[in-house]
Amino acid sequence: MKPADIAVIGGGIAGAASCVALAQRGVRPVWVASPPAKDRPRIGETLSPAANTILANLGLAELITRPIHRPANTSFSAWGSGQLRERNAIVHLEGPGMVLDRAGFEADLFATALKTRARHIETTVQNARLEGNKWHLAFANGDEGVFRFVLDCTGRASSLAVIQGTRKRADQLVAAHCFLKQTDPDVAPTPATLIETVEDGWWYAALLPGGDMVISYFSDPDLLPNGISRDHGVWAGRVAQTAHISRWIDSAGFSLGDQLPILASAGTTWMTPVSGPNWAAVGDAAAAFDPLSSHGMTTALWMARQASEALCQAHAGYSEALDAYNAAVQKGVREFLLQRQKIYRQETRFADSIFWQRRQHSEPATGKPTDSD
Ligand SMILES: Cc1cc2nc3c(=O)[nH]c(=O)nc-3n(C[C@H](O)[C@H](O)[C@H](O)COP(=O)(O)OP(=O)(O)OC[C@H]3O[C@@H](n4cnc5c(N)ncnc54)[C@H](O)[C@@H]3O)c2cc1C
Repeated sequence: MKPADIAVIGGGIAGAASCVALAQRGVRPVWVASPPAKDRPRIGETLSPAANTILANLGLAELITRPIHRPANTSFSAWGSGQLRERNAIVHLEGPGMVLDRAGFEADLFATALKTRARHIETTVQNARLEGNKWHLAFANGDEGVFRFVLDCTGRASSLAVIQGTRKRADQLVAAHCFLKQTDPDVAPTPATLIETVEDGWWYAALLPGGDMVISYFSDPDLLPNGISRDHGVWAGRVAQTAHISRWIDSAGFSLGDQLPILASAGTTWMTPVSGPNWAAVGDAAAAFDPLSSHGMTTALWMARQASEALCQAHAGYSEALDAYNAAVQKGVREFLLQRQKIYRQETRFADSIFWQRRQHSEPATGKPTDSD
């Protein structure tokens, strides 16, 4: 393929991994991407054990061996019961997952992708249209480009996929999260992840490899208390209602300080289709999952490999390859929705809660609550 044959749009895990996967096939795309922000932490640090094989196949296994990351050996959860249960990574045949320095991982992956044959343009796509069988892209830097194939790796925005497909949404889950500093350095906290359910959602906390702690409250926008992202008292009040998370923050020597939480969309959404004759969506642009699964990064890496291969096959005349990619992603979404319902049904203590009802009584094919339109 010539440089202008294919454009990869987006500088997250999906975009960078797509450049790596295309380079493995000798393809040199144009990569439209801004570098990841290094100066602020990013939520989403748990890399599932299933990622180990995919990273190895992409030639990226070394990325997670740096000491800025740590193995995810221990997790505790109070899900379906008030008691904490411990799960040890020794039960995973694929080896442990990892707790990543997420910003460091993304920066390393971005740097690796820059070393491939991708032609990097540091800008964003402002406008895209498909004319005949060519994509016409207008960039924020004023340039324009015409491409035969495009990989949409723009995250939940699905900037190009929305032009060709329809967005489906199972729920409106939102994450209110913040990063805590240790205020009592004499305590050596357990390197662990903790999950706890509450009436209107669930919480998780994780000790990050760099020593900070991330805490996040997951609920629906209409169930979040007023002012949670503006009023520290409201946020602190919610944290205080947890049994295990609040105790861990205190006992591990952390403090909420005066920080307010950041809100982020965390719902399960996906596109139908996720590919067409000259495009494919990769990562969250194709399907974004409830973070309960901790599979977002792994799925993005898997899709990058699959979509890149399908695109190369389509270029060689085997256009069914992109249909097969779409079918594989849609199958994955259906399986995830069933799994999601199974997990939410394990929590039976909040039968009157709208949050839990929405997830426990949902359509298997759409994940939507059965009582909704
Ligand atoms: C609260 C929360 C917790 C999570 N926890 C985990 C976890 O523990 N483990 C896990 O595996 N996953 C987790 N995830 C999911 C994971 O973060 C995502 O699945 C992953 O970031 C997807 O990568 P991506 O490259 O597809 O998208 P993104 O990371 O969103 O990257 C998209 C990129 O495209 C760029 N972009 C957007 N529009 C344009 C445009 N028009 N032109 C050019 N560039 C554009 C963006 O700036 C961004 O750089 C979590 C998600 C949330 C919300």
